[in-house]
Amino acid sequence: MTQKILILPGDGIGPEITAQACRILAACQASGLDVEVEEGLLGGAAYDAHGEPLPAETLEKARAARAILLGAVGGPKWDRIEDLSKRPEKGLLGIRKELGLFGNLRPAILYPQLAEASSLKPELVSGLDLMIVRELTGGIYFGQPRGIEERNGERVGFNTYVYSESEIERIGRVAFEMANKRGKKLCSVDKANVLEVTILWREVMDRLAPEYPDVELSHMYVDNAAMQLVRAPKQFDVIVTGNMFGDILSDAAAMLTGSIGMLPSASLNESGQGMYEPCHGSAPDIAGKGIANPLATILSVAMMLRYSLNESVLAARIEAAVGKVLDDGLRTGDIASTGTQTVSTREMGDAVLVAFEAP
Ligand code: NAD
Repeated sequence: MTQKILILPGDGIGPEITAQACRILAACQASGLDVEVEEGLLGGAAYDAHGEPLPAETLEKARAARAILLGAVGGPKWDRIEDLSKRPEKGLLGIRKELGLFGNLRPAILYPQLAEASSLKPELVSGLDLMIVRELTGGIYFGQPRGIEERNGERVGFNTYVYSESEIERIGRVAFEMANKRGKKLCSVDKANVLEVTILWREVMDRLAPEYPDVELSHMYVDNAAMQLVRAPKQFDVIVTGNMFGDILSDAAAMLTGSIGMLPSASLNESGQGMYEPCHGSAPDIAGKGIANPLATILSVAMMLRYSLNESVLAARIEAAVGKVLDDGLRTGDIASTGTQTVSTREMGDAVLVAFEAP
C-alpha cells in the first residue's frame, strides 16, 4: 500500500535543507520506494499564511501521513507575537502532542572524518555512538498549571513538572528496547535528589529493569550527566530522560559530534508513525544564504526509512552516501576544516545524490 509522507519545510533554513532531502526521497522513489509525498505549512510560515502556527489542514495531513519530514520552525520575525499560543514553536509542540509523538530518538554519532571538528579532543570522541531517548510530550513543557500572574504586587512565572507512571513506563520501554539492540547499557538521567517527579521516574525505571535482564541500567543526576557528556562521552550507550533534560543534553551531545548540522532525530508514537527532523533550529543567521548543512535532514530521511517505513536497506544506502561525500572531503561551512572543500547546501545535496545513485 502506498504510504503518505508529509513534508513541512518550516522557517529559516528549513525550506533550503528539506529541498535537498526531498531530492534524496525522490531518488528512493525511483529505486522502488512506494510513497506519496505532499507538503504543508507549519510554524512561522503557517502563521503568516493562516494566522495559526499549526493550521487544521496541516494537522489533517499529518494524521494521514505515515511519516513527516520537518525542516525547522521559528525565527526573530515571529518572536514578538504577543499571544504565545501563536508562536511557531507552539506549532511544533502541538503536532508532537496531537500525534502522541512521545519517543524522541536523538543519535549522536561522530563520523570519523569529522573528529577534528569536535570541540573535544579527537581521542575523547572518535567512535562516539550514543543515543539519547527523550520523552517528548510530557514533563515541564506541557504541565499545567502554567503562566505568569500577579501575586502580592509582583509578577510570578510558574510551570509544572509532572509525569505519570504510565508516561514514564512507555518511554522507559522504548529506551530498554533500544539498549537491547545496541550496546546493552542504559543510563537514566534524573534529578531525584531534588525533584519528586524524578524520584518516581527512577522507581519506574528500576521496576522495568528485570524485564530486560541483558541491559545494564544505571542512574545519573542531570548535572553529573552534563559533566560526564563533555568529560568522557564514550561511557554512554543509551541515555533516557525527560523532556527538558533531554532537550538540553541532546544539544550538548550534538556539539560533541562537531556540528549540530549533522544530527537527525526521530519522534515516534505507539503505532510507529513518526516525525523526522534535524536536531538544529531554523538558523536565521544563515537563512537564505544557501550555505546551511543539509546532512542532518538527509539523515533524517534515512531514520524515517528505518523506523517508520521498514526500509533499512535504503536507509543504509543514504547513510553510506553521506559517509562517501565526507570521505571525498566535501563540507558545508559549519564542518569545514583545512584541506576540505567548502560547498553550498545545493552542492552537498548534489554530491549525496550522486553517491546514492553510484553502483
Ligand atoms: P539553531 O540550531 O537554529 O542555530 C544555532 C547555530 O547553529 C547557529 O549559528 C546556526 O547558524 C548554526 N546551525 C544550525 N543548523 C545549521 C545547519 N544545518 N548548517 C549550518 N549551521 C547550522 O538554534 P537557535 O539559534 O537557538 O534558534 C534559532 C531559531 O530556531 C529560534 O527561533 C528557535 O526557536 C528555533 N528552533 C527550532 C527548532 C525546531 O524547529 N525543531 C529547534 C531549535 C530551535
